[in-house]
Amino acid sequence: MTAESRPTDLGQPAGQPHVIPSYLDPAHLGPWGIYLEQVDRVTPYLGKLAYWVETLKRPKRILIVDVPIHLDDGSVAHFEGYRVQHNTSRGPAKGGVRFHQDVTLSEVMALSAWMTVKNAAVNLPYGGGKGGIRIDPRHYSQGELERLTRRYTTEIGLIIGPEKDIPAPDVNTNPQVMAWMMDTYSMNTGKTATGVVTGKPVALGGSLGRADATGRGVFVTGEAAMRKVGVRLEGARIAVQGFGNVGNAAARIFHDAGAKIVAIQDVSGTVISTAGIDPYAALEHLRGTGSILGLSGTEPLERDGFWDVDCDVMIPAALENQLTEANAHRIRAKVVIEGANGPTTPAADDILQGNGVTVVPDVLANAGGVTVSYFEWVQDFSSFFWTEDEINARLERIMREAFASLWEVSQKHGVTLRTAAFIVACTRVLEARALRGLYP
Ligand code: NAD
Repeated sequence: MTAESRPTDLGQPAGQPHVIPSYLDPAHLGPWGIYLEQVDRVTPYLGKLAYWVETLKRPKRILIVDVPIHLDDGSVAHFEGYRVQHNTSRGPAKGGVRFHQDVTLSEVMALSAWMTVKNAAVNLPYGGGKGGIRIDPRHYSQGELERLTRRYTTEIGLIIGPEKDIPAPDVNTNPQVMAWMMDTYSMNTGKTATGVVTGKPVALGGSLGRADATGRGVFVTGEAAMRKVGVRLEGARIAVQGFGNVGNAAARIFHDAGAKIVAIQDVSGTVISTAGIDPYAALEHLRGTGSILGLSGTEPLERDGFWDVDCDVMIPAALENQLTEANAHRIRAKVVIEGANGPTTPAADDILQGNGVTVVPDVLANAGGVTVSYFEWVQDFSSFFWTEDEINARLERIMREAFASLWEVSQKHGVTLRTAAFIVACTRVLEARALRGLYP
């Protein structure tokens, strides 16, 4: 039977050069579909490298694992875990691990692909990866979460390692989870392997400055964008969605630099204040009460009202798919800085662009975390640790340079910063692909 006449398992017409795997079924793409649309938008700018573009449209490796654990009541519960390595053309896979009840394969695939783009856009020597477990961690004890993390790490231990794939924290995971991952991997391999994960506690080879790194990058790139479009930092009114690792740090750093936080939304609710919210007090209140609501000097706002808040800058720093066709036209900000991964749908991107809103895309704006993760990994390999000032200075330099080069590309081609980031990143990844060639 010739290749031409051979049927495919999906019943595609004979002679199709690329058989679409079932998990890429166009009917159920979710966030992965958004990513594919972004790649399609950039393909016309890739010149001869477009020959290799299919590389970007499918993950290199997907691992789906069953994670069974003993619960505290003696019963056994099973959870579904994933680790996706989207691309390793430029270096080992790198990207976070998320614990969330809504985690899906499509989401993890998209997040892993955005890591490929992000690492290349900022020119870090990594590919892209991401992991996740479908679980709402709020309902489980520390002991249960430790057992979950250890079993998950053992299951994905087949494909992770300091030179293969390096996980890090993401939504609902933290330095303690990274410490358990590092210990489990180390026990399983018989050596202390600090470089297998980043975002570890400083006492275990973590880097100074990592906790605030993503928020700092949001600030550096956001402030650069504000300058380009003429929004003054002093007194700039900022609305932040998500008050976790990223949103909280970004709010504090903007506040310290003279901007005014006028709205905060998190999972517990939304608060606003035209006089400005002190993010330090907000954090203390959140820690004390478990909710952002009731913070003194603020008014509560119904959830959907967040998109109408009168502000100069909006920072979505919670989850993906927040700015959509349904609300993008309501945004009053002149600059949107994407702290979260994938918060803006392509349709919303078009609306924002049409309304003259500058979007600093996730793959640039939140790359500060992985940049300091890269510093952590380098420090672990050399067992030589840098000061926090050195880390922040290097981080700021990398983020400023990345912003400047993407801005230049966006001006040159008359495209958004997101398309510019994809042009630069996809070109770098596909150049590496073309140089390496296909094995065997
Ligand atoms: P986190 O768990 O620390 O915080 C998430 C925040 O989002 C919380 O304040 C939570 O209350 C809020 N939230 C959850 N659901 C919400 C909803 N429906 N509406 C409003 N708020 C909601 O997570 P994080 O580490 O800050 O990550 C946030 C985003 O930033 C994610 O998209 C993540 O992938 C991305 N990101 C994180 C890092 C990092 O270094 N942590 C780096 C790059 C990108």
